[in-house]
Amino acid sequence: MHKMLVDFLYNSGDGYGVFDAKDQLVFANPALAEIFAIELEQLTGMSFANIIRRCHQQKSGLLIETTDLDDWLLYAGQRRRSVPFRIFEADTVSGHWYLMSEQCNAQGAILLHAKDITEQKRLQFALQQAEQLLRNQANTDVLTGIANRRYFMQQAGKVLKHQQRTGAACSLLMLDIDHFKQLNDAHGHLAGDKALRFICEHIQSQLRNYDLFARYGGEEFVILLADIAAAEAVQVAERIQQQLATHPMSYRNKTLPIELSVGIAELQPQQSLTELLQHADKALYQAKAAGRNCCIVAKTSAL
Ligand code: GH3
Ligand code: MG
Ligand code: MG
Repeated sequence: MHKMLVDFLYNSGDGYGVFDAKDQLVFANPALAEIFAIELEQLTGMSFANIIRRCHQQKSGLLIETTDLDDWLLYAGQRRRSVPFRIFEADTVSGHWYLMSEQCNAQGAILLHAKDITEQKRLQFALQQAEQLLRNQANTDVLTGIANRRYFMQQAGKVLKHQQRTGAACSLLMLDIDHFKQLNDAHGHLAGDKALRFICEHIQSQLRNYDLFARYGGEEFVILLADIAAAEAVQVAERIQQQLATHPMSYRNKTLPIELSVGIAELQPQQSLTELLQHADKALYQAKAAGRNCCIVAKTSAL
């Protein structure tokens, strides 16, 4: 019976090993030797610390990622035998993953079991990547690659709450391309699409990387500037407009000037995102009425 059990362990595809109370490996099967990348005859009898040292030095077997091996061993030593049973994941230099368990008996000996979970891990990573991709796609405008309205509404709400709690300023810019329909009609939809991408790159280059910039609608964009009051937001808008004037887009060897109208609203205490957007939208409408290619700051009074 005992021999049968040892045969089972010896021939198992899972790694098995027994460390005695002094942390010497007194039994190991071939699968475990493969995980540590140490010959079985050599492995049996080695101490836990020496097995780890060898993996670290030779950069083979278990992947030991540390610049301070003694510290690593100290930490591992604290965890080993701290509980009767523990379970953890470990990977090897060759890229295999194992679900490892350590079972500790009353004498302080440890039964180590290692199950290959490489395939499950691969699927898990692929799933995580797919989820991340989906999340990004759900938040991104396909044409321009910038944030979409959905993401903006989600994030802007958080920014507003934070700014209101701390009493810091915050400004919202609503930008709309002037006579964009004409550009489409005169040069075609592809030129219009290129103009949208061009404008996004242009605006993005004028912003700090934590500013919230999104495509709000067809040829309408929003920018939320935290810690920026209306007067400074005007400077940002005017810089965007001036830069667009001096660096126009070229399309099929032609220069296509693009202009923007901008409505700006500064966040008021207690104001909701919807109200802030309404104020910026009203100011944008006024900028259009005032002749376009300009920016107007919304009055703080009620709409
Ligand atoms: P205004 O100065 O008053 O804003 O005039 P406008 O022509 O820009 O405004 P209008 O709302 O009449 O037209 C917006 C145009 O934007 C119409 C629509 O075809 C175009 N548009 C919206 N989304 C896209 C897009 O993804 N690609 C292209 N090429 N055009 C788009
Ligand atoms: Mg327009
Ligand atoms: Mg519009």
